[in-house]
Amino acid sequence: MSKYIASIPLGDIERIQIYVNKSAKTLAEIKAETGADYLINGGLYQGAQAVCHLRADGRTYAKDPYTYWGYAWDTGPDITLRSVPAAERRSYICCVCLLRGGKAETLIYNRDVGGSRPRTAMGIKDGALCLYCTNSGRTPEELQAELLALGWESALMLDGGGSSQCDLAGKRIVSNRKVHNLILVYKRKRASSEPKGTPSEPSDSGSDGERMNDGADETCPGGWGEGCEVGEDDKKEKPMSEAYQVTPSVGVNIRSGPGTGYSKVGAYAQGTVVTVTATRDGWGQTEKGWVSLDYLEAVEAAQRVTDNGLRIQARYIDAGRKNRPCGVNPCGYITIHETGNAARGADAAAHGSYLNSAAGEAALVSWHYTVDDHAIVQHLPDGETAYHAGDGPKGTGNARSIGVEICVNADGDFAKARENAASLVRLLMEEHGTPIGHVVQHNHWNGKDCPYTIRHTSGAWEAFLALCEGGPCAKTNRQTVQARFGLAEETMDYLEAYRYGADLLQKLAAAN
Ligand SMILES: [Zn+2]
Repeated sequence: MSKYIASIPLGDIERIQIYVNKSAKTLAEIKAETGADYLINGGLYQGAQAVCHLRADGRTYAKDPYTYWGYAWDTGPDITLRSVPAAERRSYICCVCLLRGGKAETLIYNRDVGGSRPRTAMGIKDGALCLYCTNSGRTPEELQAELLALGWESALMLDGGGSSQCDLAGKRIVSNRKVHNLILVYKRKRASSEPKGTPSEPSDSGSDGERMNDGADETCPGGWGEGCEVGEDDKKEKPMSEAYQVTPSVGVNIRSGPGTGYSKVGAYAQGTVVTVTATRDGWGQTEKGWVSLDYLEAVEAAQRVTDNGLRIQARYIDAGRKNRPCGVNPCGYITIHETGNAARGADAAAHGSYLNSAAGEAALVSWHYTVDDHAIVQHLPDGETAYHAGDGPKGTGNARSIGVEICVNADGDFAKARENAASLVRLLMEEHGTPIGHVVQHNHWNGKDCPYTIRHTSGAWEAFLALCEGGPCAKTNRQTVQARFGLAEETMDYLEAYRYGADLLQKLAAAN
């Protein structure tokens, strides 16, 4: 039997995330995916639905008419126990409050949560976030007494029993259960002042403002898989997109690479809000070049999240590249493509790296989003034109539509990628007021046989449009199958977690 308690000073915390586990991943898979330092199971859930108030990165997953004591925060270090829901906070969780103000709370819980079982809790003590997990049994009352004796000022009991699991900086309690939501804690990384890496790329800041107005015909990247592998340097960069504000009164230098050894290409004034699209060695890449993260402070950026919980990762093509034409796109249409690239690893992030490389620039291709089975990467702001429709630089497809590429990589789950693409289309339709009739295939603009798989699968385009129209209230494949065959939640969990689960559910849902 094991018990682990982590105490993480709030000042060391970069971010606390509520991870909603839509793809039924194991804790180990989530750790590998996110790189979080501490992971612990979250609140109660039933089937695919959280039971108590739950909000993650601005998206509400569960609510009811009552208020409870819970933890709420925007980024993490600001976490407090307070009355939840807290509409102005980006994340909150509640479950069973054990301690408040250093005193035992009256415990309120359903009978099926009680008894002696493995337990998980989170709390605050002496300016530190505390995480607790044990796989030996205790009642909520015993847990409350134990945490009170440890001097915790506040505490929430999280889901327990078979759900109790953690990886607290490598100290693990393993459970096979794939829980609905988890608490992830990322520690602040120490910035290095040593200039590292390879010589810089030529500065982008010398753009003369001339717009690309020729070329720009072909589009779907087709077979770049062989010749355009992601460079080593790209792999070292952490994909991200966060807004930061420049803090020093004298402003901050912009350099051509991640370190003081690189040439200065400009400066940002104090207060400037910049978007950091990649980080390396304590430096952040912005549209104009690299700046030291020591002089930047994270500010709340508007997060775009689809209704199936995917956060849009903005990694824009550098300004000045020839495949970023910078025309004004009125976003009248949404154009659906498939990448046509079956190479393993040809996922959304890889396509993002390709578009922002010399090869992507030379091929004069660009589009707005690439979607795979686990991520959505944005390459250009919606309001800019791109080169994806093959109808010329002034063609309606290139100049007036948002290009969405769906990945077909052999190691990806195409059905899931298509579902994710539909969730993105729903978001774009809502944001831009796009009618479903303006969601079109690449084929619509220049006759190209794209999106290939969808075009060559009977009924697939109609099914895709139905998904786009459906929105969050439409029945998911899971719900359709469950209702049709009268299956238990456990059976549905099993089917979903099965290796080809998404495919299987889709086939069962579509069966007559
Ligand atoms: Zn296409």
